[in-house]
Amino acid sequence: MAGASVKVAVRVRPFNSREMGKESKCIIQMSGNTTTIINPKQPKESKSFNFDYSYWSHTTVKDVNYACQKQVYKDIGEEMLLHAFEGYNVCIFAYGQTGAGKSYTMMGKQEKDQEGIIPLLCEDLFTKISDNNDNSMSYSVEVSYMEIYCERVRDLLNPKNKGNLRVREHPLMGPYVEDLSKLAVTSYNDIQDLMDSGNKARTVAATNMNETSSRSHAVFNIIFTQKRCDSDTDNTSEKVSKISLVDLAGSERADSTGAKGTRLKEGANINKSLTTLGKVISALAEKVESFIPYRDSVLTWLLRENLGGNSRTAMVAALSPADINYDETLSTLRYADRAK
Ligand code: ADP
Repeated sequence: MAGASVKVAVRVRPFNSREMGKESKCIIQMSGNTTTIINPKQPKESKSFNFDYSYWSHTTVKDVNYACQKQVYKDIGEEMLLHAFEGYNVCIFAYGQTGAGKSYTMMGKQEKDQEGIIPLLCEDLFTKISDNNDNSMSYSVEVSYMEIYCERVRDLLNPKNKGNLRVREHPLMGPYVEDLSKLAVTSYNDIQDLMDSGNKARTVAATNMNETSSRSHAVFNIIFTQKRCDSDTDNTSEKVSKISLVDLAGSERADSTGAKGTRLKEGANINKSLTTLGKVISALAEKVESFIPYRDSVLTWLLRENLGGNSRTAMVAALSPADINYDETLSTLRYADRAK
């Protein structure tokens, strides 16, 4: 990946009610781009990490959180969108334990000022398209939305497709999901409707299978095509970029949740795909592309064209501020640190 390391951000959220109920202490500090975690059992022991961006969202002041939501988009989402306009494939993913703020960062809430990276990026995409006055350019946007659960792929835009789509490989285009819906959209409202129905399908499917959506990865893809037609020569050229926006499954370890049977198997699958993703990203950072183990999980296999080669990647690690989550938060910070 020529000169392009992964951009890594961390973000710490406000206490949730459970943490407040337990009178938790905040063990995260941020100063500039340095994030420090304090061991609650040995307060003199702390570990510090440096990332490209550190977001302090540990506040109950709404306006500060809303401004943070916008800043995350500006720093990460907009940068990746501009890379997509340049013709790169891009990938943004959120990592962290369940409840740490991944969905809030990626999808956010529908209320004003609380939208996350995905809706803000889609809105900005159409704004940038309509701002372009170059008559020789034309654009098309297609969207797919899927969920990967226990190495199986479910189509969130066609819930009738019950969820074991085949992953295949095209000789030129690379890995893809057979029969996955890919819908053309012409406005932000179109995308918003698809996102809403996809999110509902995700919740319904999870409830039916007695699981929670935190055990699956949600992958929102935008296929963005830019066509240039030279009116003098009639020559046309085309740039296709794939934008993958991924809300990963919760990173908590199966053994720490006391899981048994199906849950344990589920946990093992999640761990495998997150570990493989970590390996892929570290390998890319070290630029030893020939040994990258994309095939070891469905997630990394499908993201191959968005992680290696002609692509740009960013990761947001979501952190709980609370002492009770020390082990998981430390392991999230280590994971993020390896991705740099
Ligand atoms: P995850 O997707 O990692 O399981 P969520 O994004 O669903 O976690 O966040 C858990 C809860 O915390 C949600 O109610 C969410 O609205 C809230 N939350 C997360 N991050 C923030 C933040 N930065 N500011 C305010 N509330 C947040």
